[in-house]
Amino acid sequence: MKTVVTGGAGFIGSNLCTRLLAEGHSVLCVDNFITGSHDNIAPLLSHPNFTFLQHDVTIPFEFEAEAIFHLASPASPVGYMEHPIETILVNSQGTYQMLEQARKQNASFLISSTSEIYGDPLIHPQREDYWGNVNPIGPRACYDESKRLGETLTMEYYRQYQTDVRIVRIFNTYGPNSQIEDGRMIPNFITRALKNEPITIYGDGNKTRSITYVSDLVDGLLRAMFKPGTIGEVFNLGSTEEHTVLEYAHMIIRLCNASSTIVFEPSRVDDPERRRPNPTKAQQILGWQRQVSMEDGLRQTIEWFGKRIAHLSTV
Ligand code: NAD
Repeated sequence: MKTVVTGGAGFIGSNLCTRLLAEGHSVLCVDNFITGSHDNIAPLLSHPNFTFLQHDVTIPFEFEAEAIFHLASPASPVGYMEHPIETILVNSQGTYQMLEQARKQNASFLISSTSEIYGDPLIHPQREDYWGNVNPIGPRACYDESKRLGETLTMEYYRQYQTDVRIVRIFNTYGPNSQIEDGRMIPNFITRALKNEPITIYGDGNKTRSITYVSDLVDGLLRAMFKPGTIGEVFNLGSTEEHTVLEYAHMIIRLCNASSTIVFEPSRVDDPERRRPNPTKAQQILGWQRQVSMEDGLRQTIEWFGKRIAHLSTV
């Protein structure tokens, strides 16, 4: 199949491109590198079915596609707070451009939304029919609210034009190809632990998070795109194993054999207290299950971070 992956030079996008190529699809990867990395796609450039286009997807461009995975958007707090306007535009204007192409070409469309659309949730765990508790004018709103608008646009293309769409709400994902110290919990903790530097926790460490290894997440994206019964549907994708931030810090210190200490700083604005999906719908309709245990996933991620940090120190 002819697939397009916007944001394909990013963390999840590059893992998705790799998997699509392995399954025999052709991939047009489109990215403007605002938060992505050339290193993430370097191993793919020689693949005969892989094409890379450096382009901002808010600006129209011509391409052929049977399936469009629209992942482009800064995703880490550091990324979207540094580029708030670009984040709003890619999730609104960029989503519109990709939906227009899906409509005109009768292509299937998937938007990668986020658990952040639930804001600081008042219902726990979160099911897809929970509407969320989002501060529309806070520092995270450029991300949360533009993803919510991206979802709204997507559903209107479904209602108005019967475009073949689906929405996936991704929960905290970790693994190879993520950015070093990008403001997200796992990359930050691993980077610090590998350097035996202090690990910073914002708040008292009792906030909870559930994390999903990237290969499991990518498997869910493929199922949501290609399985029957997904048109016009929204799916949570994420692990239900919930731990406190402090527990993650201790786990990573142990797995890295690190001597890092833990330092506490004030909580960040609008940082949710608890985050855990109810993934029953993905399990039932997509047959999706987590395959990689947390300890295995963290070990693989730590190994990759070790190599990336060593590589960066030589360039
Ligand atoms: P990332 O920042 O690593 O990747 C995003 C990619 O999009 C980058 O390569 C960036 O350069 C590209 N991009 C941004 N704006 C663009 C534009 N206008 N034109 C072309 N390319 C553009 O982030 P990620 O973690 O890989 O996230 C991918 C998607 O998954 C995002 O939509 C994000 O909102 C969603 N998501 C991720 C997580 C997570 O835990 N990583 C959680 C929830 C949702």
